Amino acid sequence: MKILALVKHVPDATGDREFADDGTVDREGADGLLSELDEYAVEQSLQIRENSDDDVEIVALTVGPDDAADAIKKALQMGADAGIHINDEAIHGSDALATSKILAAAVQKAGADLVVCGMASTDGNMGVVPAMLAERLGWPAATFGHTVSLEGQSVTIKRDGDTAAQTVQANLPAVVSVTDQSGEARYPSMKGVIAAKKKPVDEWTLDDLGVDTAGIGLEGAATKVTDTTPRPPKQAGTIVTDEDGSGANALVEFLSTNKFI
Ligand SMILES: Cc1cc2nc3c(=O)[nH]c(=O)nc-3n(C[C@H](O)[C@H](O)[C@H](O)COP(=O)(O)OP(=O)(O)OC[C@H]3O[C@@H](n4cnc5c(N)ncnc54)[C@H](O)[C@@H]3O)c2cc1C
Repeated sequence: MKILALVKHVPDATGDREFADDGTVDREGADGLLSELDEYAVEQSLQIRENSDDDVEIVALTVGPDDAADAIKKALQMGADAGIHINDEAIHGSDALATSKILAAAVQKAGADLVVCGMASTDGNMGVVPAMLAERLGWPAATFGHTVSLEGQSVTIKRDGDTAAQTVQANLPAVVSVTDQSGEARYPSMKGVIAAKKKPVDEWTLDDLGVDTAGIGLEGAATKVTDTTPRPPKQAGTIVTDEDGSGANALVEFLSTNKFI
């Protein structure tokens, strides 16, 4: 049984995130890390292995520049067995369509029974790549699960919709995505950090995948960021000091003035 855990390297949300002149995120100027929502994808992949009697190989897969190797490293430290890093200058500025095309080619080359994704990345935050990837592979997609389980040749997720809790089952091979409600992701142990250093990571280019550059990268993107305007810095909040019991009135005043009530 082979699971591919899709991990994206993103700028650290606690740091300054700038846009470069070409409208893409300035990844060189920012510290990056494994997208927090993809830690849940790795965690659920590890739990599937721990709950399975079969041999389960977990491979972390990323598409990104040199620094994206850190996303793989974190997944290996958590317990993944190996990594695949799709790294090619031509990928810079790729939109979600292109990313899903590259990921589909990588999944076909690597082979897999199950692809586990995060619900969304913490930078583009579109939440579309799992479905796009499944469409390109012709595989079923069961997305936004808070629980994932395997029975024989099928995978089942549970998710909470607005009006109903749903159980979705799909035959393997399949693509699933998991939410941040799927349980805490483990921290790498010291043993895991040391073991990760010896784990294999393959680095592939678009050529290795046999993917032509049409529709790939900034030139090929179907969407273009034409303008970016930094958001105004957050205003300091209103501080109410309740010395004479008027605090409640002041709060109601604030809420009604701002049409919260
Ligand atoms: C601020 C910003 C805005 C953007 N707006 C758009 C836009 O409007 N339209 C558009 O087409 N593109 C847009 N992009 C580009 C888009 O983010 C990238 O193409 C990206 O690789 C896919 O979109 P996402 O990060 O939103 O992925 P999502 O669909 O949010 O990702 C879902 C899951 O797919 C997997 N995944 C996603 N990307 C990768 C990767 N590179 N490697 C491995 N696994 C991955 C992860 O498991 C992730 O949790 C934007 C990027 C940024 C930073």
